[in-house]
Amino acid sequence: MPQYKIAIIGAGPAGYFTAQALQNSQDEQRTFAIDMFERLPTMWGLVRSGVAPDHPKIKTVAKVFEKVASEPNFRLFGNVEIGTDIDIEELCARYDAVVMCTGSSVGKKLGIPGEDLPGSLSAAEFVPWYNGHPDYAQLDVPLDGTTAVVIGAGNVAMDCARILAIDPTELDPTDTAPQALAELHKSKIRKVYIAGRRGPEHAAFTAPELRDLPKLEHTDVLITKEEVEAAHARAEAAGEIEKHLASNLEAWRLIAEHPRSGHERQMEFHFLAAPKEFKGNGKVEEVVFGINTIKDGKVIDTGETYSIKADLVISAIGYQAAPINGIHFHHGVIENEAGRVLGTNIYTVGWAKRGPSGVIGTNKSDASDVVKLLIEDLRDEARPDFDITPFIPAGVQIVDQAAWSRINAAEVAAGEALGKPRLKEVSIEKLLHLGQ
Ligand SMILES: Cc1cc2nc3c(=O)[nH]c(=O)nc-3n(C[C@H](O)[C@H](O)[C@H](O)COP(=O)(O)OP(=O)(O)OC[C@H]3O[C@@H](n4cnc5c(N)ncnc54)[C@H](O)[C@@H]3O)c2cc1C
Repeated sequence: MPQYKIAIIGAGPAGYFTAQALQNSQDEQRTFAIDMFERLPTMWGLVRSGVAPDHPKIKTVAKVFEKVASEPNFRLFGNVEIGTDIDIEELCARYDAVVMCTGSSVGKKLGIPGEDLPGSLSAAEFVPWYNGHPDYAQLDVPLDGTTAVVIGAGNVAMDCARILAIDPTELDPTDTAPQALAELHKSKIRKVYIAGRRGPEHAAFTAPELRDLPKLEHTDVLITKEEVEAAHARAEAAGEIEKHLASNLEAWRLIAEHPRSGHERQMEFHFLAAPKEFKGNGKVEEVVFGINTIKDGKVIDTGETYSIKADLVISAIGYQAAPINGIHFHHGVIENEAGRVLGTNIYTVGWAKRGPSGVIGTNKSDASDVVKLLIEDLRDEARPDFDITPFIPAGVQIVDQAAWSRINAAEVAAGEALGKPRLKEVSIEKLLHLGQ
């Protein structure tokens, strides 16, 4: 019976769900030997560096990932970057299949004047900063002004706005990166605007996230009843109200009707607001918005503008994949057909394949669909057995599953003493030391 060797690149949800789908597809006809490669010494992708620290339940999916990793046919090669430490061609020549699960980590640009001023950040920088991604530990996040603007109408924008707007004591019992938490404690930001170019009826926020907003203990969340009613009327007239939108509109109504507590901290939604320009002398000081209107279901620029004085702007308008040597990208994702990279033994799953959409579970069904195709394509004979370790440059300290377990346990133990689920280490050097 052939044992096929599969390389999975990226230890995020797509990577682990691919490994799980392969494990579940073993039978009397075939087995799999899985090698997973991850560029960081820490695992779990955006479950560690994306999901908001005040949403700890979502991160319990990591238990599933660790179960997958504990199977005897699974080997981990952490701290190994594919395309840099090992060429893709090298993997394709030796493994029966290579599955790219490398995600989508570069923030999309608005393409407006002033976007590169200091004080203008992407969610793709701000989120990994507060979540302890080593690449962003040194990011300069100016928190000495009173006002921030978050641009975007999806859950990532909501996470950014919430982290800026809540009282940092609410983050003390979480795994927020220690250096970011210290900065957030000193933050003078009290007003956070969150701006979307269309109406509330078209925002991509999901209902559970909206329903959590009135529960914030130290922050008033503002949207006017008139705005919610207008959105309802437009959606009704356009015949757009289905189950999800009805639930969102109801959540908006609850936010609008929630009594204000007079908190100093506020999060205020602005809709039909299209950013035109960031102005400032050497740093962001003002955001200019064009006012949109909706006519016959279409968003139209009225030509009118207004400005908000702000000291920090975060754009959360989507992600695209980071380049990887030897891989072709198209419109921000790996060029693929239903997960197959045509003409190769490369496959792709997750955000690298589909772009930045869907929840963690979406990657599970995606992985299972692509693994079916991968199995269809397998040759009768597996490739000869081999060990990839000698192909990894000598200077690279591999974080194998045992080393990752030590890092994980050390962080959890350090957090326990402080009443946190874990205390994240953000230095690569120190992480590697913890793994020894
Ligand atoms: C801010 C934010 C909050 C979110 N919150 C939620 C939530 O609350 N609930 C929910 O269900 N979903 C949430 N999501 C969505 C969820 O995180 C994604 O669906 C999921 O992480 C995508 O999985 P992935 O494996 O495709 O990518 P990722 O999770 O990004 O994993 C990709 C992995 O590949 C590694 N990698 C990249 N390049 C290389 C390389 N060349 N060599 C080796 N390794 C490499 C990366 O380091 C990373 O570990 C959130 C997303 C974001 C951005």
